[in-house]
Amino acid sequence: MKIVVIGTGYVGLAQGVCLAHLGHDVICVDLDVAKVDALNRGEVPIFERDLPELLHENLLAGRITFTNDLAEAVADNPAVVFVCVQTPQHDDGSCDLSYIERVLRDVGAKIKADTIVVVKSTVPPGTRTVMHEWLNNPEIELAANPEFLRQGTSIQDFLHPDRIVIGVESERAAQVLESLYVGIEAPIFIVSVETAQLTKYAANSMLASRLSFINEIAKIADLVGADIKSVEKLVGLDHRIGEKFLRSSAGFGGGCLPKDTLALCHLGQTVGSEPIFLQSIIEVNDNQPRWFVRKIEKILGNLDGQQVGVWGLSFNQGTDDVRYSPAIRIIEELLERGAKVVVYDPQAMEKAKQVLGQDVMYAASAIEAARGAVALFTLTEWPQFLEVDWLEVKQVLSRPIIFDAKHFLPHQELWEAGFEVHGIGLWRPEDSRQL
Ligand code: NAD
Repeated sequence: MKIVVIGTGYVGLAQGVCLAHLGHDVICVDLDVAKVDALNRGEVPIFERDLPELLHENLLAGRITFTNDLAEAVADNPAVVFVCVQTPQHDDGSCDLSYIERVLRDVGAKIKADTIVVVKSTVPPGTRTVMHEWLNNPEIELAANPEFLRQGTSIQDFLHPDRIVIGVESERAAQVLESLYVGIEAPIFIVSVETAQLTKYAANSMLASRLSFINEIAKIADLVGADIKSVEKLVGLDHRIGEKFLRSSAGFGGGCLPKDTLALCHLGQTVGSEPIFLQSIIEVNDNQPRWFVRKIEKILGNLDGQQVGVWGLSFNQGTDDVRYSPAIRIIEELLERGAKVVVYDPQAMEKAKQVLGQDVMYAASAIEAARGAVALFTLTEWPQFLEVDWLEVKQVLSRPIIFDAKHFLPHQELWEAGFEVHGIGLWRPEDSRQL
């Protein structure tokens, strides 16, 4: 099938490459000239596991190309156009549809009426009418096919999803879109456009709610002397609850969970559902990095002029994405307090530089970031950080203190090696009996 994918970010690139892998003829369009040139050369501008190999394979097979020219991309009358551009948040939390509007106006003027326009970007229910207006051709069909992938494992998630959700306006669109995913072993659910759109927001808000919930429990654990890691494990062992997304930290981030929860909350307020619960998820998350920094201050005292080392800048391991990364929030709070911050991340240094500029120092390695620091902060759970020589780390730090925002380090081993390890709700074995 001939497919056009508009937007080659984290979602569009995975979508384009995986559809090519399934045997479709794919043309990807992006406004970014340098990105398109790089992709045509087989260079992947983001860090994403398995993506470079799959891109090379499909470029060689001639199943995928990249262009800046939308008119050229749709000239061959594709069966489906996927819209994968960003949908950031407005200041009031609502979803900014301006990128979608631009694409739909452009596409609507250039495609034939039998091409189905599928919005893969996350957009709120209630936007179908306006999106049709932007397409400006009542005969063009609009569909929703929300994406549930996680950055870091996007290729695996695309090829082995839990389910595929397709929101359509007609049986024809359902059949075309179903046939597109032949080769992927997953149940496909055909629903209305609004149901598909709300499912995406509900799924992200659900994940966010579990994280904010356990983060709230972690704060209580901190204050009553309970060990949060044990609490997480014991709560998660209940099969009605499960252990996934029940890991406390200094907050969640990324380009999706925070903005989608906020957008759903805004939608609830707009339609009059009084979304108190959604509001609390956001509030807990907004407070969590501050709570972490307050804990740091309690232990280190005044941070003015003190040098600290930071390991990890991206919002999660496996990605170079720093959008809404709690690491960046924490660093900004540290800088406000006058700390000298030396940072290292195995993949996200370039993206972090665009946000943090010259306000921090960039180290060439994890050890260099720790050298001379009064404390080490581990803010992203990169597996590389588990492989370091802790004795060397202890030698280069001026005090053996670690603040583990993601609660992923081998705490027992570190305590035994003479480190002080802090997090939100992390207690030493003698202070709180652990599993
Ligand atoms: P992104 O910012 O990484 O990529 C968007 C791309 O679209 C950019 O390359 C940009 O240059 C391009 N673009 C913008 N306007 C364009 C236009 N008019 N023509 C051609 N290209 C254009 O965004 P993303 O993270 O891939 O997210 C895309 C959408 O998917 C969002 O709605 C997001 O909420 C949703 N989503 C993201 C994820 C994720 O993990 N990142 C997961 C599920 C859903």
